[in-house]
Amino acid sequence: LARKPGGENLRELAKEFLATATDAGDVLRARATLLPLEGLSLERTAEILGVSKWRVCRLRTQFIRLGGKPGRKTGRGGRRRENLNRGDEAEFLAPFIATASGGGEISVSTVRYALEVRLGRPVALASVYNLLNRHNWRRDLTSVNGATGPLQEEQRRTATVRGRLARHVNIINVDSRLPNLALEKVRHYYQTRGYQVITRPDMAGKVPTFVSVLFEKNRMQVHRYEDLPDTLVGGSGYDAKIKLPAEIEAVRPKINFGFTSRGCSRSCPFCIVPVSEGEVRVEGDLYDVWDGRSRRVTLLDNNILQLPSHFALVSSQVQKELLTVDWNQGLDFRLVSDEVAYILERTRMPDLRLALDSVHHIPLFREKLQLLRRYKVRRDPLVYLLVGFDSSWDEDMERIRFLTAEGCRPYVMRHPNVGKNSKYAVLQEWVNQFWPVKVMSYEKFERLRRERPDRKRRRLTGMNTFQEAET
Ligand code: SF4
Repeated sequence: LARKPGGENLRELAKEFLATATDAGDVLRARATLLPLEGLSLERTAEILGVSKWRVCRLRTQFIRLGGKPGRKTGRGGRRRENLNRGDEAEFLAPFIATASGGGEISVSTVRYALEVRLGRPVALASVYNLLNRHNWRRDLTSVNGATGPLQEEQRRTATVRGRLARHVNIINVDSRLPNLALEKVRHYYQTRGYQVITRPDMAGKVPTFVSVLFEKNRMQVHRYEDLPDTLVGGSGYDAKIKLPAEIEAVRPKINFGFTSRGCSRSCPFCIVPVSEGEVRVEGDLYDVWDGRSRRVTLLDNNILQLPSHFALVSSQVQKELLTVDWNQGLDFRLVSDEVAYILERTRMPDLRLALDSVHHIPLFREKLQLLRRYKVRRDPLVYLLVGFDSSWDEDMERIRFLTAEGCRPYVMRHPNVGKNSKYAVLQEWVNQFWPVKVMSYEKFERLRRERPDRKRRRLTGMNTFQEAET
């Protein structure tokens, strides 16, 4: 036998209730109570009311618990969509409270930005207001938005500007001509979260700003950003130990430009890589960098030849996808072996970049050059030459003469030790234009340059100084 439905004592009340009720919810509750009392099964009642059997039970329970009284609704209670619990909310707001009690300015957009960073996802402005209301901050914010004195006027204006720029992030690349990978990570991180990324030096301090400087000589240019709020300054030219927040650092933007390995296990005294990145290690492969469409990829691995199997893997991926790869940071010639030369010969590269940092490496360099040529890898590699660090002028000249005689293309890089030494600036000009070093001595180049400044000469005649001098 089926169980007798409950609510028998409310039968008459439910009938009266149905005649007078104006709220659809009340009607539904009364009918859900009455129909089973009239002999209908729960299934049939659910069919008639157009709801589920489970819902019929809940409606009946509600009506019985309310004692047949209209107008009262029962909620489930509790917060089901909370971002943070009360304790975490208080802890999250504590720094803002400290700032406010110290006389500092708090804007809703600042709180919103911090909350989004904390949660790792966008948050509606209403959620931030609700959070602040829960912690009795309404009056403080109203005073900022509604005040009228000169100071308050400025506060109101700032709050308005910040409101307009609430979902903006500012990235400033001081000196990199190539894409700046750290800033690209910032761009991707925020763009995928719905932010607009801008490059506006004048907005630094007004919206979250990331500044990167790669070369120490440009360090002065970032001093003005140092003490601004919401601004992170970093880069190898500033302080290589400053890192992006871990969640941004973990981003791998597929922009055909990046690293498949980081670090280096050598410790060349002039190089910042072992300090800033540590021991060599694998970071990913071609597919973490390549967007799947471009025909060319630039890899910035500092010394991938220290990981021979990883080098073979990435090269095989490049070959399989018929791509051109630029090993932009150069390959360590000391680690070139038959296997490496074989792989290089089968890989498309726009150039072959090596480095010759000391005159003592010349014999080994000659040997490796012959090995590369045996495998028909490019005959005239570009060879970086660091000058002015721990080598004498004569040693620098010896390396240049050796490379030129071997048919390589030397490329001088001045160490900051000699950054202001004009002799080295002329040396760099003589070598890095490639053709003067082949046709005239340093002394002749320097004399011609002194006698007829290149820029003036070009302006007057439209001709290259040295081409004319040779004729
Ligand atoms: S081998 Fe290259 S990357 Fe490694 S420490 Fe020397 S210069 Fe730096």
